[in-house]
Amino acid sequence: MKTGEILKCISSMMEEAGYVSRIVSVEHLNEIKEELKMQHNSGSFSEDFYNERLTSFKFRTPAFFKEAKSIIIIGVAQPTVVLSFRWNGTDHQVIIPPTYDFSANGEMKRRLKEILIPESFNIFTTTIPLKLLAVRSGLAEYGRNNICYIPGKGSFFRLMAFFSDLPCSGYIWRPPVMMERCLNCKACLVSCPLGAIDEHRFLLHAERCLTFHNEHAIDFPKNIDRSFHHSLFGCLRCQTVCPENKKTFKWFEEREQFSEYETSVILNGISLEQIPNSTKMKLSRLGLIDDYSLLARNLSVLLT
Ligand code: SF4
Ligand code: SF4
Repeated sequence: MKTGEILKCISSMMEEAGYVSRIVSVEHLNEIKEELKMQHNSGSFSEDFYNERLTSFKFRTPAFFKEAKSIIIIGVAQPTVVLSFRWNGTDHQVIIPPTYDFSANGEMKRRLKEILIPESFNIFTTTIPLKLLAVRSGLAEYGRNNICYIPGKGSFFRLMAFFSDLPCSGYIWRPPVMMERCLNCKACLVSCPLGAIDEHRFLLHAERCLTFHNEHAIDFPKNIDRSFHHSLFGCLRCQTVCPENKKTFKWFEEREQFSEYETSVILNGISLEQIPNSTKMKLSRLGLIDDYSLLARNLSVLLT
């Protein structure tokens, strides 16, 4: 197949699954790096947030994949996941926001390879700032809450990107843009209990955001009232009030159920090595093994 046909094939696969994608040249990696550096130098990020979240990116193609020419950016639609934890004789429903299910990355890689390998092309995983890449490639637009929105489809998409040796040309590469709708809307700003969304600057005060704290292995700051917690990880307040998510904010998928014993094991912080294998399997299916050390704290504020 010619390159154009391969790209069409990838687009059709995405469309059939309800996903969205773009392709851009790897030549833009340095621009992304410089943009992040400029924001850091201008004091836009707190040092804690910068050091924990923004220093692990790699703005070059892998040494073992020197043929890389392009970056394929993909948005995979995901629902809010609902879990059930039995505690003190009652079943409690606990949610995990869309985008946390990283198993979609492996599945997407497999599907892309099915198309590319027979044509003598390949892909490799990237570690680059996905939101910035998605917005600059035309795949998404920023919301006032700094979340990425796929035009007409909302924000419940997991972003991922792969280096590929597919050549690309005639693609979109534009400055970052915010949704037009945000100009006359403040719903997310009003809904945020922590003042992380600022009317006077575009960048979120990420160090105030609940997501930063419940994904972070330190005690919750005192200004985070117990009632602000509503999700095992992350926070959905500013996305559920957003008019752009009107069609998707009620898209739920019920997943694992945890018995009273399993819940007590998690709440008591029993080590992963000592928890029942069946519980470990449930956590693994949910992609929560790496974050297990945060579960006791995060679950306890929702159940007790
Ligand atoms: S709630 Fe309003 S301002 Fe916030 S991201 Fe959505 S449209 Fe934009
Ligand atoms: S995710 Fe929650 S805490 Fe963070 S900006 Fe949105 S509403 Fe505020």
